[in-house]
Amino acid sequence: MNYTEFKDKKISRLGFGTMRLPMDDQGKINYAAGQEMIDYALANGINYIDTAYKYHEGESEDFVGAALAKHQRTSYYLADKLPTWLCSTEDDARKIFEDQLLKCRTDYFDFYLLHSLDEESWPNVPRLHMIEYLREEKAAGRIRHLGASFHCGPDLLRQVLTDYGQDLEFIQLQLNYMDWDLYGAKELYQIAREFDTPVVVMEPLRGGMLANPLSETARKVLDGTDTGASYASYALRFINELPGILCTLSGMSTLAQMKENIEIFNGPAMIDKEKEAISEAVKVLQADILVPCTGCNYCYECPSGVKIPEIFKMYNEAASKGFHWIWGSLSGQYNKCTPNAKDCIECGACESHCPQKISIIDKLKEIDAKYAQLAEMGE
Ligand code: SF4
Ligand code: SF4
Repeated sequence: MNYTEFKDKKISRLGFGTMRLPMDDQGKINYAAGQEMIDYALANGINYIDTAYKYHEGESEDFVGAALAKHQRTSYYLADKLPTWLCSTEDDARKIFEDQLLKCRTDYFDFYLLHSLDEESWPNVPRLHMIEYLREEKAAGRIRHLGASFHCGPDLLRQVLTDYGQDLEFIQLQLNYMDWDLYGAKELYQIAREFDTPVVVMEPLRGGMLANPLSETARKVLDGTDTGASYASYALRFINELPGILCTLSGMSTLAQMKENIEIFNGPAMIDKEKEAISEAVKVLQADILVPCTGCNYCYECPSGVKIPEIFKMYNEAASKGFHWIWGSLSGQYNKCTPNAKDCIECGACESHCPQKISIIDKLKEIDAKYAQLAEMGE
């Protein structure tokens, strides 16, 4: 494993993001399988473990605390995040921070971030003096390095780094080759470089989509290089080779994925024909993707329980097959996935949490209409 030097630390180039941990049949985190992954990660050079208050509907921090308990506290760096959108009083941030320390069974965080800042959530931060509070925690040694994760446009990122760049020692951005030009990731990255702020990368595989490109055409483009590189390898190396990257987080769900990713980070750099193939693949993938959902599940608190990420994934996959599935009925598959768009009460709660800014209500209506049409056509 290669490492990035950061202040007094050496951070592994690959970090373990704990938002897509292995699950059991009851839809809960599979502690045994997750423990095996944590143990393997630490034994094989990964030393950056990333969690957040809302990952796995609030269970990720409990898991991380339990799984890391047997390891020496100095053998890893733990990153956690403050859900700014859940704070309505100054005291809320304090309560959440104390709760996080308890859940993670630690008395300090190596890295602590204001979570998922965007144009809507940012005003809460100055209004509730969150940075002033986090400065206090840093002075007390309960936060070693302060940062922020962003899902915003370039103007806000520039403004925050101008006003608070002295406080934010690093930032976290969604960077991957799909978002690079299409969704403005390159511009955000360039702003970070301008301010000389190290970047922790999230969603390098765009929710797994780039590990398994949707359509046969996209897969053919990448396979055409004959280098034998996996699809995940293209995406991870694209990011890893950018200057100024502190660490790339991968939300790994299986030990096999972790082994593969570690191998990629220990393997050769990208060659020119692979870089060209990526540019070509982006064009194909752009046509494949109807909904840019990463499956992050930040929208899980839907009062009707609508299976938003499942529906979007199903729809994208159906589109990549030209809305024709030889093994069964597409509309039948959709109707089994309930609650779905028909149960949406249009409360808008999901849209305010979606980091990809998807117009979820409209998309669900569009998808529902499409599947009704498919049913009429016997698909
Ligand atoms: S708008 Fe619809 S899908 Fe979104 S949270 Fe409300 S009920 Fe659920
Ligand atoms: S709809 Fe948005 S919030 Fe929900 S899983 Fe997809 S990207 Fe995440």
